[in-house]
Amino acid sequence: MKQLERDLLEYAESMQCQELHMNVDEETGLKMVIAIHNTILGPALGGCRCIPYPSTTAAVIDAIRLAQCMAYKAAISNLPLGGGKAVLLRPKTISDRTAYFKAVGRFINQLNGRYITAVDSGTTIQDMDVIATETRYVTTTSHGVFTVADPSSLTAFGVLRGMQAAAKFKLGKDSLKGLHVAIQGLGHVGYSLAKLLYNEGARLTVFDIDKNAVNHAVSELKAASTSSLDAILKTECDIFAPCAFGGLINDKSIAMLRAPIVAGCANNQLEEPYHGEALARRGILYAPDYVINAGGLIYVAAQYNHITEDVTLHKIEGIYDTLMHIFDQSEIEKRTTSEVADNLAKQYLQKS
Ligand code: NAD
Repeated sequence: MKQLERDLLEYAESMQCQELHMNVDEETGLKMVIAIHNTILGPALGGCRCIPYPSTTAAVIDAIRLAQCMAYKAAISNLPLGGGKAVLLRPKTISDRTAYFKAVGRFINQLNGRYITAVDSGTTIQDMDVIATETRYVTTTSHGVFTVADPSSLTAFGVLRGMQAAAKFKLGKDSLKGLHVAIQGLGHVGYSLAKLLYNEGARLTVFDIDKNAVNHAVSELKAASTSSLDAILKTECDIFAPCAFGGLINDKSIAMLRAPIVAGCANNQLEEPYHGEALARRGILYAPDYVINAGGLIYVAAQYNHITEDVTLHKIEGIYDTLMHIFDQSEIEKRTTSEVADNLAKQYLQKS
């Protein structure tokens, strides 16, 4: 047990993650981890995910990685926020969902605003409403003033802007019209993105383990589909978009890719930092995940801080310029795009 604790805390230290909080609630079956990377620029805002984990260690590691990702995302997006994440180890059944999320709210409230929560994988706007009965440190409830309730469509819009920047930089194209995009994952963000791309005149090839989502994209968006993950990775296309889960970009997948650009919404796309270098060696332009997928966070932060929808959309559009700057710097400094992004984020954190 000691060994495990020491390893986790050493991992937290290596990721500069300042706080780890854990809570169990026997009555509701809640097992919860909150990682706060830092609160240098402001309170740590990050989603609350509720998914099954193979072990507590895996959940804590995920929380730490995601909190760092949120911290860098907030810093590079120039938001007055730190980075944090709540991870709920989803039990086989949640017998009383209201009681379960009330317990989540009470726990968040104990942190006195150092962590602000929001909807994420496995949680809903209704769950946020329940959390809001116990704490005010929550956003993405159904009581927000924005016309869009779910941040996913704004994340997709930011990814679209990022793809436009990548297409301009790598292919010299002013538009995505006629470009071929392969999307892995047609969930909340992936499907919204597919729709936006279709409207831009892009050609789509898609893969998801959910056959309904694929059938929908085939009929609604005239997408082609592949029958396996390997097949979508090997699809010859202009942009490969990882939109399902983290760690997809690794030694095996990089060898399969037939796209000059990797740009998608998934968090923590690189299995290890050196995979940024491996992509660059193959001449593949990588749009760093936390930069291109910041639209949701920008929106969520705006909702919490009562910023107007117009100003928010304009800020999300700015993902184009942020990425263009990173691509330019990467060429000038002869460093990978992921290194340039990390350095910029760290600089913003130090400057404050
Ligand atoms: P989601 O759960 O709605 O969608 C994920 C999709 O991936 C599902 O359709 C699922 O069936 C599919 N999938 C799972 N395993 C797969 C596999 N092996 N191959 C192909 N498809 C597979 O999640 P989401 O909200 O769309 O988020 C997707 C990714 O983007 C996640 O990594 C998330 O952390 C990240 N992200 C989401 C947001 C947001 O606003 N929702 C913001 C930033 C980052």
